[in-house]
This record gives sequence, C-alpha cells and structure tokens, in this order.
Amino acid sequence: MFIVLLGSSGVGKGTQAEKISNQLHIPHISTGEMFRQAIRTGRGIGREVRPYIKEGKLVPDPVVTRMLFKRILEKDCLSGCILDGYPRTVRQANSLDLIMQGLDWQLGIVLHIVVPDEEIIARTSGRRECSTCHAIYHLVSKPPRDPGHCDICGGGLFQRLDDREEVVRKRMEVYWEQTQPLVDYYHIKNLYCKINGSQPIWDVFVEIMNAIDRRKMQEIPQ
Ligand SMILES: [Zn+2]
Repeated sequence: MFIVLLGSSGVGKGTQAEKISNQLHIPHISTGEMFRQAIRTGRGIGREVRPYIKEGKLVPDPVVTRMLFKRILEKDCLSGCILDGYPRTVRQANSLDLIMQGLDWQLGIVLHIVVPDEEIIARTSGRRECSTCHAIYHLVSKPPRDPGHCDICGGGLFQRLDDREEVVRKRMEVYWEQTQPLVDYYHIKNLYCKINGSQPIWDVFVEIMNAIDRRKMQEIPQ
C-alpha cells in the first residue's frame, strides 16, 4: 500500500512511520532524511538538493519531485511505501498523482497525525539539549535531576533556537497555511484520514493500523 503521512514536526511522525514500516514491510521514505543524508555524505539520490540547502535556499519543487521519483522507482517500493515529507503542497500532490498514474499505481491512504498547536508548543518549548553529549531532556516529561545540567555527563543544558515558543508558533502558522489545502485536496479524493496524535505512542499506532485495515477492506472488490 502507498501511504502518505502528514503531520507537523513534534507530532511523532518519524516514530509512527518506523512502526508502520516494520508492520507492513514497506520502506519509509523521508525527504527530510534524504536531504540530511545528501548534506552529510554528498552522495545518494538527494545530492542534487545539496547546493540549495547549503546556501540556505528553498529547494525548488521540480528538484524535490525528481528526487522522490527516483526513489520510488527503486525495487523495494514495488509493493508500496510510506511517504513522509512529500507532498508538502497541492502542487506536489499533483505531481505525485501524475507519477502514480504513470506507473499505474494507486495511493492507498493519507494519514494526518494531528496534535493541537498548544500541545505541540508545550512539547517542544520544554525540550532541552546537553551541550556536551547532546542528550535530550524535557522540563515536564523527562526533567534532569539537577535543573540545568545533564544527568549523564553534567554538561550545561540549552534550548535549541528551533524549539523557542515564538519560533514554534510561527512554524505552526506556516504549516497550516500549507497543509490545509492539502487536507482539502485529499478529502475530496476520499483518501484523507485524521489520526489523533495526542494519545500514547502505542494508541496512535493502533488507530493508524485500524485505519489502514479499514481501507484495505474497501479495496476488496465486492
Ligand atoms: Zn550530557
């Protein structure tokens, strides 16, 4: 089954993608991970995006689409895959439709993990990182024994710029501006399924697998 996984950062999308991947034996294709790999090694399918990211520029749509296209043509995607980070816009969703049509494949389901903005802000703004060993803490859910210092190495804890409340608020605003049209797009196509991301990890996964099973039942010709 071909699955599109939507969700802003901070909803546990990566964790769920790995679980689905293990359960269904289909690869998890994360454009973010492909970008990071291209930056780290300068090799792989994503190497074309490297110059843009290095210069802090937005990677143009056709370049991202080409990267994704190459990836889903690899053998391990024959029986499906989980797309994470693509499509991000309706324009990319149109490109994906064309690719799938060209291959005579069908998108099975679009899963959108949603957590209320205020909860995402609480989750991320409490995060602290050790400046020495990079261990991650959370002021509420995983507090260090000594406030301000790492349990493991005693290093100072700091807040990443990305995790500051005003930065997260701005990011959520941009996210919804981009994503709402995508939600409407897949809703009309009857592929959209909203998943409650405010539950424990395991319950989120159960809700996802139930949604996938329901969709598979619908696909069986009557
Ligand atoms: Zn540390």
